[in-house]
Amino acid sequence: MGNASKLIIFIVETNTTMKTICTNFIFISFLILPIYFLQAQNNTCANEQFQTIQLQNPEFRQQVESIINSNQATNKTTEDVLVIPIAVHVLHLGEDSGVGSNIPDLQIQEAVEKANSLWRNTFVTENSLSNDIKVEFCLAQYDPHGNPSTGIVRADASSIPRYAETGIGYIEAVLQGIFGSDETQTKGFSDWDHNYVLNIWVVHKIAGGWGGYAFFPFGNNYPTDGVVITANSMNKNSTTLAHELGHAMGLFHTFQGAENGCPANDLCFIQGDWICDTPPHRRSDCNNSNCNNSPDSILSFKNLMSYCSNRYIFTKDQKDRIRNTIFNSSRKALLQSTACTGVISGITKNINHNFSIYPNPASTGFTISNRMNKNLPFEIEIRNSLGQTLFSKKLNSGNEQYISFDNKIEKGFYLVLIKNEDKVIDTQTLIIQ
Ligand SMILES: [Zn+2]
Repeated sequence: MGNASKLIIFIVETNTTMKTICTNFIFISFLILPIYFLQAQNNTCANEQFQTIQLQNPEFRQQVESIINSNQATNKTTEDVLVIPIAVHVLHLGEDSGVGSNIPDLQIQEAVEKANSLWRNTFVTENSLSNDIKVEFCLAQYDPHGNPSTGIVRADASSIPRYAETGIGYIEAVLQGIFGSDETQTKGFSDWDHNYVLNIWVVHKIAGGWGGYAFFPFGNNYPTDGVVITANSMNKNSTTLAHELGHAMGLFHTFQGAENGCPANDLCFIQGDWICDTPPHRRSDCNNSNCNNSPDSILSFKNLMSYCSNRYIFTKDQKDRIRNTIFNSSRKALLQSTACTGVISGITKNINHNFSIYPNPASTGFTISNRMNKNLPFEIEIRNSLGQTLFSKKLNSGNEQYISFDNKIEKGFYLVLIKNEDKVIDTQTLIIQ
């Protein structure tokens, strides 16, 4: 069976017409890596191998089960907003910034904002069916060297063999006789430490024509770990990024196991998508379920991990799975990353936090206390996870001042920059709830 400790899972997404395409699970052993793919082919479905794979790979199964079991171990009342720093690597073809596959910063920021709105359940007004995962993705504000960054890295990847013609390659494409660029080489072309950020590669094309794929955080922190998404799918009108991030945080498709009929669901916690409050459905069942007559089927039909249109839902059990996955997998390291806080970065590492903010989490405002020179005038700036300034204010002299943002800032994770004469002298993380 090969080295199960290096079990890697790819989920490959179709680019368009998600309702009509088919999924095909193929389990192969390639070199030492057992791998399965989700492959788009046509309107017929191949046999689903996932259950077999899991049963045949005890270490993989154990990893997933340990995360499920951690549901009991993790304190569910802890609902801190978890911030996952991301870096977006645009692997373009040499176009100017903002042109063609070298998509503009704004498009990337809007795509991240869309994903965050889906994850925080602020995307739709009638949002009672979904859940606030209390996880946000933050474009890194500092690079791995501590220098200020937008979290967006651009690299002309056209010199990588076969990248321009065929797109980034992966094993499934090779099996089909399609030779894209070497995946490890392509991702290694622009890649940040995987414990510092979750890497997202925006590519002009994926060999075989899919729109994205992501690695599960089970197994080792493999060099190719991260999310791949096409430039066409990386925008505010697409839910692909939110979906891929779901895989990256341990979620399977709601129709998992539905190749020849309905997915088994008698043991909902270890069958189908291993989630109990997503009724089983066939991939193409998006209005009426052939598998389950429950009115709850809408939780699958509109689920972000389905292939149905207008998807926006994460269920309560999916929320628990995501959060437990983060706490019990390689993703946990990202919670300690300074990519978005810069607390020990080159800019701020010598600062002993001469300011404090309270309460934090805050709701409508906070008090900032200056423990330093009491008469030092300073100003504060509040930035969101996209690096955009939402609020700035020049403060009076004195050692304490209340800052009200009058409900103008939505709940979430923010960076507070404390500046003096345009120089950042301290940073604080702020959670608004
Ligand atoms: Zn998927």
